[in-house]
Amino acid sequence: MAADAKSVLESGADLLHVDVMDGHFVPNLTFGPDMVRGLRRALPLAFLDVHLMVTDPEMFIEAFAEAGADHLTFHVEVVPPERIGAVAEKIRSFGITAGLCINPPTPIEKILPHVGLVDLLLVMSVNPGFGGQKFMPEVLAKTEALADAAAPDQRVEMDGGVKLDNVQRVIDAGCDVIVAGSAVFGLPLKDRAAAIKALRGSGSVK
Ligand code: ZN
Repeated sequence: MAADAKSVLESGADLLHVDVMDGHFVPNLTFGPDMVRGLRRALPLAFLDVHLMVTDPEMFIEAFAEAGADHLTFHVEVVPPERIGAVAEKIRSFGITAGLCINPPTPIEKILPHVGLVDLLLVMSVNPGFGGQKFMPEVLAKTEALADAAAPDQRVEMDGGVKLDNVQRVIDAGCDVIVAGSAVFGLPLKDRAAAIKALRGSGSVK
């Protein structure tokens, strides 16, 4: 895994997005803190963007922060509205940044009141749980509204089914962080740099 992760960083990726699934909020089970610790050991300089697709994010903040995460995103669906600020502050207390994620069926009204509390807003463009799913274009309107609500120093990230044939729409909707799974890791090593460059979209400064 470290070798595969290293290859995408050397091919131009800015960060590694780690999907943590707890087998409860989503049916699948994936990385735990030990996997993040292993990635950190193998890639000391990589930015590790950890996406907690878990029912109880507060329970895991310390473990992932101490394992070497640079950023933790949690879901708006699982934290009571009055706790969202406290969860974000707990994440920041470890010297890392906090993000808030919204699933495709969740109305934007659920996340809008909390936009100012986090560093990054993550829009899921598939129902979370498995890789390789098809992008849901109906989330683009929600993304535009969220990008409008975000301050210039906040990031808007899209996760799920982003590929070369839809990435420009994602960028045009206001996203400045693109998560790609199969669009990059599904390619042979020699083709990954070109795919990452293309995923930056046209008019990119990088
Ligand atoms: Zn993710």
